[in-house]
Amino acid sequence: MSMSNNNTEAETITEANESAKVEIPEEEVKIVAEDAPVVEAVSEEEAGFVATIPTSLEDWKPKTKLGKDVKSGKITNINEILSTGTPILEPQITEILLPNMENDLLMIGQSKGKFGGGQKRAFRQTQKKTPEGNKPSFSALVVVGNKNGIVGVGYGKSKDTIPARDEAIRNAKAGIFKIRRGCGSWECNCKASHSIPFKVKGKVGGVTLELLPAPRGKGLIVEPEIAKILSFAGVKDIWCKRVGRSTGKSNLIAAGIKALHKLSTTKISQEHRENLGIVEGAHD
Ligand SMILES: [Zn+2]
Repeated sequence: MSMSNNNTEAETITEANESAKVEIPEEEVKIVAEDAPVVEAVSEEEAGFVATIPTSLEDWKPKTKLGKDVKSGKITNINEILSTGTPILEPQITEILLPNMENDLLMIGQSKGKFGGGQKRAFRQTQKKTPEGNKPSFSALVVVGNKNGIVGVGYGKSKDTIPARDEAIRNAKAGIFKIRRGCGSWECNCKASHSIPFKVKGKVGGVTLELLPAPRGKGLIVEPEIAKILSFAGVKDIWCKRVGRSTGKSNLIAAGIKALHKLSTTKISQEHRENLGIVEGAHD
């Protein structure tokens, strides 16, 4: 990681226009609920709905078939949903099936000015010139994860920070995916799930990020925001190689997410599965 590109990043952000917003691959930005088919909600009695769901979720009226199946207890396993590729349009699905999911803001903003310029911030502020004057808006990127094989990153934008964060959390929960863990480190070769089973690359814009298996105890030797995503996914040890200059953190983060997606979609043989100690998604 180099400190010398701080200026470039600051310049990009002061441009403050629509194009400065986070570029996360399209499959990551899921539309929540609004576009989902509207299905009549079933009553709790009809659904056979019982206790265990937190109070705030009791009033939730699912709009999708998947939502109804989750609320009624017909579907209880998140891995099952993620394997079929059925989109999770309602964040409550994730809240019910993964009640211990944690979230955190990724640092995508940067303060301006002589002093403290270039300091990392969670919210990116942009100004839009309108006939009535400058209208500020805030955007945020949030990571959610169970620290055990399931992770999601979501983007939110609003004229205030808190709604931007909340939208990002909802989008992150609706966009969760499972990742493959294992130990592909020849130095380690322990067949446990502390790292990743093989190296993967993600390319977005001018940045390529390669994630490589690292031996146990090495830690997450990557940029802090990528490390945060990996730790929320439950990966403990990793090396990385970065090629190309980034005009901002966004492309780098998006490249990291792309690489993690690739982990799960790469074909592997049963032999590799055993030799590399591969586990997929939420795992006991
Ligand atoms: Zn190992």
